[in-house]
Amino acid sequence: MKKIIYFLIICTFFSCVSNEKKINEVNLYSQRHYAVDKLQYKNFEKLTGIKVNVIKANADELIERLKNEGNNSPADLFVTVDAGKLYKASDMGLLQKISSDIINSNVNNALKDKNGFWIPITYRARILVYSNERVNKDELSTYEDLVNEKWKGRILVRSSSNAYNQALMSSIVANNGSEASIKWSKGLVSNFARDPKGSDRDQVKAIAAGQGDIAIVNSYYIGLLLTSEKSEEINAGKAVSVFFPNQGENQRGSHINISGIGLAKNSPNKENAIKLMEYLTSETGQKTYVNNSYEYPANSNVSPSEIVQSWGEFKIDQLDLNMLGKYRDQAIRIFDETGWK
Ligand code: FE
Repeated sequence: MKKIIYFLIICTFFSCVSNEKKINEVNLYSQRHYAVDKLQYKNFEKLTGIKVNVIKANADELIERLKNEGNNSPADLFVTVDAGKLYKASDMGLLQKISSDIINSNVNNALKDKNGFWIPITYRARILVYSNERVNKDELSTYEDLVNEKWKGRILVRSSSNAYNQALMSSIVANNGSEASIKWSKGLVSNFARDPKGSDRDQVKAIAAGQGDIAIVNSYYIGLLLTSEKSEEINAGKAVSVFFPNQGENQRGSHINISGIGLAKNSPNKENAIKLMEYLTSETGQKTYVNNSYEYPANSNVSPSEIVQSWGEFKIDQLDLNMLGKYRDQAIRIFDETGWK
């Protein structure tokens, strides 16, 4: 009898302990692929004691996983490098609205989701970079002008399966309509220096190696190249200059996208998830982004890094960023139709 009582006491004790010790954590499903993220989450853990667990995959894989896990999903936050995928996740009912006065005041109004399902943490422009040796800045103007015959065999860009290109094409469709976009895509493909391959960084390296003269890339990759530990990358960064397209008086501005976060519908650690988003959009969190990943800040109280500032300010295409998701399927069809591999 005594033994049984002891046994019961011990069981009760351990179950109490294990209840209290429910792990203080937050679970991320993340598409981001930058060194800064580890630093950011480590800083947050130190500050709050909340452990950040990250599962990395591409956005469509993560959306599929969220969908299949349903109510049992351990995910708290869906982190992407594309507003289009956040739109898709919210459209599929996988997200819940985010309500925090702190985030609301941290984040620049122009970058917000009107429907309240996701928040931006940074933004980036999909810009042109050109060879300092073979292109004169005055020859460049708009995305549309890249179909000009003078660029035949000179344009470098990665594959159309990439989310950054899909978002760019979605913005072209939203702004110019489907027919003009098909024409544009055909013209661009016929000006390619080579079949699309490699990453954004690889396009810049190809310019340095003389394989093409103009590349379409995300802005922060130039910052990452210039501050790389590899001399080959620094040299590639130095071989090109940054150009923001569509800056003319009657033009819409350069295409941007956000890296952002959605709150999962069934987030089991919602309080911690909100805390993390508050931290990432705070001045401290934003300074960590701009100085390590060379992205633009979502919080207007923080300035871009010095390198990024040296490129000057630019006019942003004001298109509702959810359109990058809405026109995605159409963009992909255009790629297929026009032979952009
Ligand atoms: Fe990237």
